[in-house]
Amino acid sequence: MDQLTLYDQILGLSSPWKTTSVELHDSSEEILVTVSYDRGNPPLCPICRGNGRLYDSRRRTWRHLDTCQYKTIIQADVPRVACSEHGIHTLQVPWADSSSHYTMLFESRVLALAQENTISAVSRQLRLSWSNIDRIIRRGIARGLSRRWKVDCRHLHVDETSISTRREYITVLSNQAGMVLAIADGRSRDSLIACLRSIPIQWLSKTRSLSMDMSRAYIRAAHDFFGVRASKLIGFDHFHVARAITRSVDEVRKQDMKKLPSLERLQVHKNRYLWLRNGSELDTESRAEIDSHSALMSNTTIAWTLKEKAREIWKGKEPQTRNSWKQWARLARATGLRPLIAVAEMVLNHLTGIVVAMKSGFSNSRAEAINKNIKNLNRNAHGHRNKERYKAMIYFKFGRLDTSFSH
Ligand SMILES: [Zn+2]
Repeated sequence: MDQLTLYDQILGLSSPWKTTSVELHDSSEEILVTVSYDRGNPPLCPICRGNGRLYDSRRRTWRHLDTCQYKTIIQADVPRVACSEHGIHTLQVPWADSSSHYTMLFESRVLALAQENTISAVSRQLRLSWSNIDRIIRRGIARGLSRRWKVDCRHLHVDETSISTRREYITVLSNQAGMVLAIADGRSRDSLIACLRSIPIQWLSKTRSLSMDMSRAYIRAAHDFFGVRASKLIGFDHFHVARAITRSVDEVRKQDMKKLPSLERLQVHKNRYLWLRNGSELDTESRAEIDSHSALMSNTTIAWTLKEKAREIWKGKEPQTRNSWKQWARLARATGLRPLIAVAEMVLNHLTGIVVAMKSGFSNSRAEAINKNIKNLNRNAHGHRNKERYKAMIYFKFGRLDTSFSH
């Protein structure tokens, strides 16, 4: 096979396109591949596919995958076609998307690498700038979003995420499969409304639960958007309730610590995480550790016991759930400890939503995983201080988009 035919095959060219020269430019470490259009062939109008006539041509270049580590550039004089009905249009070349400066194979490679690596790594490997990679990714996202035609919206999950260095937030809406469906700026009522509006209403008609933290803004958004359906949809999942309860234990612990003499304080401080962990995760040694501190940390021990009790209710999924929670809240209030009273109020105020989440049986683990992954993405990627780029990367990594060029 000669090298012209080889490049025909690599680029997937067929008549009227063919490779006409391959030049090696040693000084610039580049390979220049010239592809030509057979002018004996009457071109078709890109709009109506009817016969047109060659009008003129424009020279264009595209970066292709490297050949033996040489930067490889495709060059072609791309004809413009005159159609009696549609005027003058540039012919679509088979190896690249219109208006792109890269071949589809090159773009696909960028997308595949960027899925697995940081942008800096891709940038180094392909000798391509951040902003060019970003453009390729955004085009990929646009292709993927335009191709999303059926997404399971039965169980939705909304959460806020902060953006690394600034005190800025975004709202992320995902489904039970762990797919990011929509992202909006801020964490207000309007943020969630914007997310919901971006999803076709017929998909949302199948929604059975919308889990969230107990933020007033999201609750209001759900009521405003779903109307009377909202109270049946809003669920406060285990993750968020457990987080609130754990925080209250921590607050009680801090209050207890303040009362200790400094030597004991130091000793107890070392074990602060034991109090916040699940009881079932503690080994005998850790358990004994907690017991040994219980005299010094009596309020924390009470709070810890309540936290464990809440976990039992959650695990049990008994039909009397509502009553179990009410009883739990009574106990929490009876402690007279402010953080526990506050969390008891929270549980009572959101009881319907808590029970909805328990009944829906929808596991929140994927949504939690997404949240964690988004935070990791935030931490690992230096370029994500740019908010728009960060949002694009969330779609790209967790939107499960089909960014390929095949149709
Ligand atoms: Zn036409």
